Parts: sequence; structure tokens; C-alpha cells
Amino acid sequence: MELKNAYLIDLMERVEKRNPNDKQFLITVRTVLESIQPVVEARPELIERGVMELFVEQERVIKFRVPWTDDNGKVHVNRGYRIQGNSAIGPYKGGLRLHPSVTEDILKFLAFEQTLKNSLTTLPIGGAKGGSDFDPKGKSDAEVMRFCQSFMTELFKYIGPDCDVPAGDIGVGGREIGYLFGQYKRLTNQYCGVLTGKGLSFGGSLARTEATGYGLCYFTEEMLNDAGKSFKGSTVVISGSGNVAIYACEKATQLGGKVVTMSDSNGYVYDPDGIDLAAVKQIKEVRRGRIREYIADHPNATYTEGCSNVWSVKCDIALPCATQNEIDNASAQKLIDNGCTCVSEGANMPTVPSAIELLQAAGVIFGPAKAANAGGVATSALEMSQNSMRYSWTFEEVDAKLKNIMVGIYHNIADAAEKYGLKGNFEAGANIAGFLKVADAMLAQGVC
Ligand code: NDP
Repeated sequence: MELKNAYLIDLMERVEKRNPNDKQFLITVRTVLESIQPVVEARPELIERGVMELFVEQERVIKFRVPWTDDNGKVHVNRGYRIQGNSAIGPYKGGLRLHPSVTEDILKFLAFEQTLKNSLTTLPIGGAKGGSDFDPKGKSDAEVMRFCQSFMTELFKYIGPDCDVPAGDIGVGGREIGYLFGQYKRLTNQYCGVLTGKGLSFGGSLARTEATGYGLCYFTEEMLNDAGKSFKGSTVVISGSGNVAIYACEKATQLGGKVVTMSDSNGYVYDPDGIDLAAVKQIKEVRRGRIREYIADHPNATYTEGCSNVWSVKCDIALPCATQNEIDNASAQKLIDNGCTCVSEGANMPTVPSAIELLQAAGVIFGPAKAANAGGVATSALEMSQNSMRYSWTFEEVDAKLKNIMVGIYHNIADAAEKYGLKGNFEAGANIAGFLKVADAMLAQGVC
């Protein structure tokens, strides 16, 4: 797709001038504007009443110093961020990422995507993202705790259960959420649902840990069923071995697929017998080890250094679940050449825009991240509901709600794509459906 509308071309030029260093953010804004072009043309009031101007500008960018000391008493300083993207349909909501690759650009792109994703869940949550360039890998628990306490000592000023509710993302799991929650409680003397992904003993929701990976598979199964296909009997390639990847592997297997790969940032394992998930959980969740350790007691499995070749493994379904920009044009072409029929995104923006076009042109069914991985944030919103009610649903109740939401998201985006003449283009459908709800709320709330 290409921007053709004169107003949107001018708007995009202004976004570029205002954010000259934010490459990933600019790619995302352009992709979204391209998809929603037919909506903007059909609804001139969105331009006349300034909604488009407001939509492309994040509401607040918070940037702060995070000092902490390591176990030897040495002082380190990281940079922390919270990007509060859009609060038209609810309090800001989105994960915190701890990874050396974190920059303002990456978080702005993620916050922008999050606004549309949260809208698709149908739940009342706005969009945000945050994090730091701190790397939890190789740090002791005490170092991670001191970092999290320092991070929250600044962040707490800007968040709250009715204002902004962060969650986990890359590098932020149950351990980090626990430390962040403890420090928030200590600073504010408030015991409230200010973070999601909490431990079950202090307000967490059953099925939140599994939600993004399970939700990805519920969404993908519905999309496949509509095309007369299914996970059953399919070979599945998964990248990553973190939270999303592990529970995508679990549900894909339960639905009858055979998952043959998993990876980390060093390389990937291929197991022709199907991934032994209990072993992966032991390595990644218990030992915090590396995926290469898998081959030690799986003689038929092989380990390959470097991650990009994972997409050359023959499969029917590919579920990228590690990070952004994992599938470039060359990887997409390998998937196509090997007969892959479906790519569905567990990670945020793992497929570069030109690779998405290649896949779609080759007839590969493509499930875009903001729809396919919305199960995590949807279940976070269910955690917020349970916290507000001072009540907990069972695993089965939460899982059933998650499944309904994911099936609903698929039909909503498929219908939106068809309505605007883009049948089968679920990426455009997700952008359109997500945008419409946010835009209507913004119109109703005026210039603010
Ligand atoms: P985790 O930190 O649990 O796992 C991330 C996995 O991806 C790890 O295996 C990690 O390897 C690998 N990885 C991270 N960075 C890179 C890189 N630059 N190159 C190759 N591999 C990399 O994160 P999650 O599973 O929570 O998140 C994965 C993706 O899913 C992210 O894009 C996130 O934004 C998205 N997401 C997560 C949600 C959630 O609920 N957790 C919700 C919606 C989206 P290593 O251990 O070596 O770093």
C-alpha cells in the first residue's frame, strides 16, 4: 500500500520532521496511515476536527535516570522511559521492556501499536509502553531488585490503577513485576492493581502467564479454520523461548500441531521429534539458561548459532515470538519457497513491512501482531477487573473469556478489511478496526 491522500502525505511529512530519529516509529505510523486511508477518506470529520493530528502525537513521553548499585557496590546508570500514547478509550496500558536495545524510538513504536491493539480487545484500555536499556541477563536477583526499586521510585509519580497500568514485556516477568509492585506499595501506601502480571498470591490473574501464547493460537486457529485449515497435523516453527514462545508452543501442540524449533538471541534448536516443552521450561524458566542446552539430552535435536536461519526450517505455520524485525524479505521468501501457508505474529512487529507484502502476495495467511498477540493485554485487563472487584475467576473462566476475545478479534478485523475493500488483508483490517474505536472516542472528547 502507498500513501496517496494529500492530507495524509502532508501529515506524514510533519510526523517525520518532528521525530527525525525515530525510524521504527515512523515506519509504524506510515504503515498504519496507509491502511486507514480509506477510512479517513470516508470520514472527512476526522481531518476537519483534528483527530488525525492528535492521533499521531503521543500524549506524554517520560524519560528519567535510573541509578542502581551492583553486588560489588559499583554505581550504574540506565535510562528509563514511559510513553503514554493514547488515553481516549481507557487508562494507559502496556508493558515494560528491559533490554539493551530499548530506545525512545522502539518504545514510541510499541506504544503507538499498543493503542490500536488495546482497542481491538474491546476492553477499556488506552495505549502505553515503557522500559529501560537495563539488561537483566547475568544479573543477580538482588541487582534486579535494586534496579526495579530505583525504576519505580521515579515511575510511580506517573502511574496508578485509573491512570496508567504497566505490565511485563521482554525481560520483565513475574520476578520483576513483584519487585516493581513492592516498591510502588511502599512509596504510595496503596495496595492496588497498578501493575498486571502480578503473582497469584498478590492480585495476579490465573491464565495471565499463558495468555499471549494461548491467545495467539486461538486467534490463529480461527483464522486457519476460516481458510479450511488448522493446527492439526501441521508442522510449526516458533522463534523465541520466552513467555510468548513457551505458551504458544504449549497451545499449538494441544491443538494438534508439531512444534519443531525454538530460539533465543544466540541461536535456535531444531527437534524433528517435536519440541519437548518441559525441557525448555526447565532451561528458560527454572535455570534461566540458554536454548543451546536443550541438545544435551535430546540426541535427535540440533543447535544452530544465529537466529535468522530458523525461518529456513520447513513448516506449515510460522509463529515469530521473539522480537521486532525477525522476518526480513529473505526470511519471508524462504518460508514461501518451503510451502509455509500461515505466518501469525506473537512478537510485536516481527515481520518487516516489505516482507508482509511478499507473504500476502504469495497467498500466505498473515496474522498481524496487534490482533494476534492481543491476548496478553486482554487478560491483563481481566486482571484489572478482578482487582477492582476484589475477586478472582478460575483458570477456566479466564481462559474461556480469552478465547472468546481472540475469536471476536479475528472476525472483527476480517469484517473491517472486507468492508473497506481489502478482503483477506488482516493487517489493514486490524489497523482499521483498532483505529475506528479510538477515533470515535477522540471525536466525542474534543480537542484534548
Ligand atoms: P521474553 O523476554 O520472555 O522472551 C523473549 C525471547 O525472545 C527470548 O527467547 C529472547 O532471547 C528472544 N529475544 C529477545 N530479543 C531478541 C533479539 N534481539 N534477537 C533474537 N531473539 C531475541 O519476552 P516475551 O516472550 O514476553 O516477549 C516476546 C515478544 O512478544 C516481544 O516482541 C513482546 O513485545 C511481545 N509481546 C509480549 C507479551 C507478553 O504478554 N509477554 C504481550 C504481547 C506481545 P534471550 O533470552 O536470548 O534474550
